[in-house]
Amino acid sequence: MNTKRLAPLVWLLILCLGLTACGGTGKRDNEDGRHQGAGQAQSKAREDDGGNGKIGGNGKRSSARQRADGSAVPRWKTLAGGSESEARVLKPMDNYLLQRKYPNVFVLHAPEDENRIALTFDDGPDSRFTPRVLDVLKKHNVKATFFVMGSRVKGVPRVARRIDDEGHVMGNHTYWHPKLWRQSAGRIRWEALETDHAILEVAGYAPKLFRPPYGALTEELLTQLSAMNYTVVGWNVDSLDWKQLPADQVEANVVSNVRPGSIILMHSGGNWDQDLSGMVEALDRIIPRLKEQGMTFVTIPELLGVPKSK
Ligand SMILES: [Zn+2]
Repeated sequence: MNTKRLAPLVWLLILCLGLTACGGTGKRDNEDGRHQGAGQAQSKAREDDGGNGKIGGNGKRSSARQRADGSAVPRWKTLAGGSESEARVLKPMDNYLLQRKYPNVFVLHAPEDENRIALTFDDGPDSRFTPRVLDVLKKHNVKATFFVMGSRVKGVPRVARRIDDEGHVMGNHTYWHPKLWRQSAGRIRWEALETDHAILEVAGYAPKLFRPPYGALTEELLTQLSAMNYTVVGWNVDSLDWKQLPADQVEANVVSNVRPGSIILMHSGGNWDQDLSGMVEALDRIIPRLKEQGMTFVTIPELLGVPKSK
């Protein structure tokens, strides 16, 4: 008799335990992004992103993607490897050595025999600074090269299309901006190809140009990028705008270091909380000053004599 009375209770208990287990698993999967079903590569990318433990898709690290009011920042507005000021490693000698060893693959500047220079803008497109950069370039009738992130091209395709419509060139700057030197060959390939596809969708070509996040290269990475038929583009003038400097300092950093053939590094976007207003103001002064010095602004394909597409 006791057993008969207990039986429904036992079944109820089993049912509850089962539901709890399913709910728990679902929550874990959600945080890891593993339930997404968007393919193994995407899941892998979500797991790998971050690297410095501060920014990324993992629930435990989400505080770095929350605004002061607690609202969430969309993932494409963050740089997976951390903001430039946190993560950039300055190793110019290493890059110069690599450039000498792989002169047909990796470029830091053009020959100095012509007064031609190239402005390059990393980490866009975004809706805050990229349109302002485009306005300034249009005002001075200058064409530039934008090393864009695939996730941001998808995030603001209208701005990406504007870059192309106004005659600028786009290069590949990875999909999520991870620290490539920490990634597997498979992940590097995914980052590059996914970004190629994003650019192809908005601009109609797969880019020939590639710039690694933080300008950080290893010989192994360079060899892989070469096998994927990219021309890897560094720079020899750093505006240091990623330090959120005032306009005067950004202007001085560029104007005092430019020489014929220079490739100038600037940013048309940043981590979601970075302020690049000083860069925009400086750009408006840098262009006329360098034109007065006899410099002509060209895109990277024009400067190097390479096609913009693969
Ligand atoms: Zn970057």
